[in-house]
Amino acid sequence: MAEEQLWAVHEKTMAGSNEPKRGPDEASTLDLKIELALRLLAACRLCGRRCKVNRLQGERGSCGLGSEAFVAEHYVHIAEEPGINPSHILSLYGCGLRCRFCQQSHLLGTPPGGAERLSPQSLSSFTMKGARSFSFMGGNPDESLFGILQFLHCLPEGWRLPVVWNSNAYGTPETLSLLHGLVDAYVPDLKFFSADCAQAIASASDYPAAAKVSIQNMLGQGVPVIVRILVLPGHNDCCHLPSLRFLAGLDQCNLFVSVRGQYCPDGSITASDAPLCRRPTREEIANVREETAALGLATAWPDPD
Ligand code: SF4
Repeated sequence: MAEEQLWAVHEKTMAGSNEPKRGPDEASTLDLKIELALRLLAACRLCGRRCKVNRLQGERGSCGLGSEAFVAEHYVHIAEEPGINPSHILSLYGCGLRCRFCQQSHLLGTPPGGAERLSPQSLSSFTMKGARSFSFMGGNPDESLFGILQFLHCLPEGWRLPVVWNSNAYGTPETLSLLHGLVDAYVPDLKFFSADCAQAIASASDYPAAAKVSIQNMLGQGVPVIVRILVLPGHNDCCHLPSLRFLAGLDQCNLFVSVRGQYCPDGSITASDAPLCRRPTREEIANVREETAALGLATAWPDPD
């Protein structure tokens, strides 16, 4: 079938409340999602870069990834927001956005030789003791959607931890549509609200517009959405306070805000990148938290900073 026909079937399927009845040889909704993710890879539109490269034939876009997902790290993290904590983190290589301050810059590009391909066998190496949720992150997970869907397809019967999608909010509507029904909670980082800042730090002037659409799409799926705001030094007026005002205008039913104060100059930040070459001040962090409260936004946790 042509891709647009598959999308039409997907839209119809997702509009129904239950998985349609099917014969033993008929495709499931997850099969359909995997096929659509494959089509997206052929002219890649998995993240906001929309490189349109054919990752199935070895072409690489900004994320540096081919068609498969590669495991970077996995561990149980005990400092996530209370609703998802403790969470088994599965960190994957590759990110199309590549903020210059990224603390995980070693995970952003093409996986090193010998990196583990995500496969059903990966599950046996994950120690999930004590985990209440299973978080996909990176790098960024959107770019590895095809491999992740294949992994989910092979999970054993009865395996059930709530799935958390921890992303940079730069996934395309197509990617979010394929995640609909599979993700139990989203944790997007709302990084910038100014196109100039997004361009200067991540060469992505379209990031604010894309992130707004992404967060609205996440909320439209009726699951909790915990929006993280990492306070960047000197970016309250241009980015964080307008971000909060945007969030205050959305449906509040499943929306939570998590203000993070742990920014450190990292990645490729140098002394010439002022003000990004310092930590945020206590006043800057407090200012974002006070505005969150003043706007009546629900917070996801008492921040331990
Ligand atoms: S995932 Fe994003 S950065 Fe990577 S090839 Fe696709 S569109 Fe480009």
